[in-house]
Amino acid sequence: MLKREKKLERKIAKERIEILFEMMEKMKYEDYELARRYIELARRIAMKYRLKMPKKYKLLFCKKCLYPYKEGRFRVRIRKSRVIITCLNCGYERRIPIRPRRKKNEHH
Ligand SMILES: [Zn+2]
Repeated sequence: MLKREKKLERKIAKERIEILFEMMEKMKYEDYELARRYIELARRIAMKYRLKMPKKYKLLFCKKCLYPYKEGRFRVRIRKSRVIITCLNCGYERRIPIRPRRKKNEHH
């Protein structure tokens, strides 16, 4: 395959992922299963074309069970300089640093 074609394919794949996430956002309060399915598809496309899942999308769903985060289905806590998101579907916890790590005296 031509290099140019491959580039175009990846571009199309990226657009498809964007569309899937848009659809997912619209659908997650109506059909939770379908919304999950969109995420699954988007992930499959990303893997196939070796695309990195954009950060803005990564935070929209649980990476273990793939269900989108929505009201009543996840819990957010802030501890020290981290956000802890707990998925209430599968219990998976993810920790996201709020700021880039700085050297601080954190001895107790
Ligand atoms: Zn989960």
